[in-house]
Amino acid sequence: MSNEAQSNPESNGLSNLLSEDRSFPPSEVFAAGANADAGWYSRAEADRDAFWGEQARRLSWETDFSRVVDWSGAPFAKWFVGGKLNVAYNCVDRHVEAGHGDQVAIHWVGEPGDTRDITYGQLKDEVCRAANALVSLGVGSGDRVAIQLPMIPEAIVAMLACARIGALHSVVFGGFSPAALRSRVDDAQARVVITSDGQFRRGKAAPMKANVDEALAGAESVRTVVVVRRTGDEVPMDPARDVWWHELVEGQPVQHTPEAFDAEHPLFILYTSGTTGKPKGILHTSGGYLTQVAYTHHVVFDHKPGQDVYWCTADIGWVTGHSYIVYGPLANRATQVVYEGTPNTPHEGRHWEIIQNYKVSIYYTAPTLIRTFMKWGEQIPAGYDLSSLRVLGSVGEPINPEAWMWYREHIGAGKTPIVDTWWQTETGAIMISPLPGVTATKPGSAQKPLPGISAKVVDDTGTEVGPGGGGYLVLDKPWPAMLRGIWGDEQRYRETYWSRFAEQGYYFAGDGAKYDADGDIWLLGRVDDVMNVSGHRISTTEVESALVSHPTVAEAAVVGATDPTTGQGIVAFVILRGNAAETGEQAVQELRNHVAKEIGPIAKPRQIMIVPELPKTRSGKIMRRLLRDVAENRQIGDVTTLADSAVMDLISQGLKTGK
Ligand code: ATP
Ligand code: MG
Repeated sequence: MSNEAQSNPESNGLSNLLSEDRSFPPSEVFAAGANADAGWYSRAEADRDAFWGEQARRLSWETDFSRVVDWSGAPFAKWFVGGKLNVAYNCVDRHVEAGHGDQVAIHWVGEPGDTRDITYGQLKDEVCRAANALVSLGVGSGDRVAIQLPMIPEAIVAMLACARIGALHSVVFGGFSPAALRSRVDDAQARVVITSDGQFRRGKAAPMKANVDEALAGAESVRTVVVVRRTGDEVPMDPARDVWWHELVEGQPVQHTPEAFDAEHPLFILYTSGTTGKPKGILHTSGGYLTQVAYTHHVVFDHKPGQDVYWCTADIGWVTGHSYIVYGPLANRATQVVYEGTPNTPHEGRHWEIIQNYKVSIYYTAPTLIRTFMKWGEQIPAGYDLSSLRVLGSVGEPINPEAWMWYREHIGAGKTPIVDTWWQTETGAIMISPLPGVTATKPGSAQKPLPGISAKVVDDTGTEVGPGGGGYLVLDKPWPAMLRGIWGDEQRYRETYWSRFAEQGYYFAGDGAKYDADGDIWLLGRVDDVMNVSGHRISTTEVESALVSHPTVAEAAVVGATDPTTGQGIVAFVILRGNAAETGEQAVQELRNHVAKEIGPIAKPRQIMIVPELPKTRSGKIMRRLLRDVAENRQIGDVTTLADSAVMDLISQGLKTGK
């Protein structure tokens, strides 16, 4: 470490470079009808256990719990001790019993234009049949079922059927390779794999079963592969192993008595996105998870059952799909849109057309998509009636203030509250977010831990930083939907999350964050990605946000590359918007000066490269570690979770030829 770094007062934390003074208080009308109010924070603070006990009453328990939380076995929590419930019953049957069997649960929209509306009554029948089918295959409580399916109703039915019989699902994103599927099947020792013949992607049918066959060659744990017919393409069926979903499920009885399982009964395993390295198999359990996803879906989206039409654009292969397509919304009796395809098939207005057709009122998506919509231009959403929208959400990455403003203006008609929700596969449910109707929102900030949740920004020593200070985001109190471990790897669980601040007993999230003068939290990107320039610790997010605030920039990713004089130098990779007039050296100079003007000369990129694409995970997150390899002329690291492996070639090639 240089002397300069040692003498720099910020070297323990993160520099605070960008400041934002725009703020949007809720309208009086929204506030008057909101599901939560400011009193929830103090109520939860006064008695956390009582607050969560109350939230658990959103669910139907067959046996009541005797204690809210037992943290004596930390870092392994037990929530709602002694309680018993059936998760699928809570998501489906009880709504039918309460007289809502005819309410639409799912407005499903296929990519080629086919649609299906499924009521809660129909969903109940489907889930019961599928549960009986799994039982007929010998699947029982505690067994693992791997699911690799496109975004079709059967995916949701299969997950709920597993939950109903106490089997754990391990959903694997439909676009993953045979190798990725195989490692997840082996890790969980899955007994059954559920897949489809193929999937529609960008207007074409792509094979799925063929990939599964390749993946499962010699996989000893797998007894049965169940195949849903989706594209109608011919697929080879192995009579000893494979069975069609329709042949297996359709003949089953619609009666199935749900068994109540312990609150801590495992519900699923799900792998993290793999942005920073090898994916981790995260284990979630039943009572605490369902409580927190239902609670957060209710307050963060201000969801009103029977009135709202909700749409979360995630894939069920990610935690957002698990918590905010399947478990949270269905536990809350939502009517939701589920869309199978890509946002630009057959045209770039597809999402807005769906919102217009179904009168979607709550829309939850990711910054990567918002920036893509910006790139396509605001004239596209302007061609549709989006007046039904009343809450907009964002998740997955920090949202740059300019993207937030664009979202509010061009999708939310300049008035819709935006909830920027911070959470992880590991947290299971939303942790930090504004509450619509309660919080005055700020572009780019996730703001406050939800009522009942506690988070802090701390320095290297675990001491909380003051207003304006930056450092590491930690969770200092257990929460109901917290992970219960990494499947089969207790050591990695303890090391990854609990060793960094072991003394304090804090959960280490791996993200950088800062407080602003009001004490609101701003997420600053991965701790692994923080840059050290002449002893200043600079977050990737702030420099990227400064770049994106330039009218010619659509997307930006920055990394720190070794520099002989400054320790690290900032290298930026930038995608220009379609309307950018200048592209060459002139554009680069202009952008360097723009960053210096926005946040100061220390953050001025040493180098800016104009690129056609950025490397992203399948869930749309920028993989900076690969760009660091490029910037430092290294062999590119593990690309198995990369969405498009050709992107890295494009970038490296462009750099060699100087384009
Ligand atoms: P891996 O852990 O395998 O590297 P991952 O962290 O991308 O992958 P996820 O659990 O899907 O896997 O993503 C959680 C991460 O996404 C968070 O730790 C954070 O970095 C980022 N994130 C999610 N929501 C937000 C948000 N609203 N603001 C800022 N960052 C966010
Ligand atoms: Mg992570």
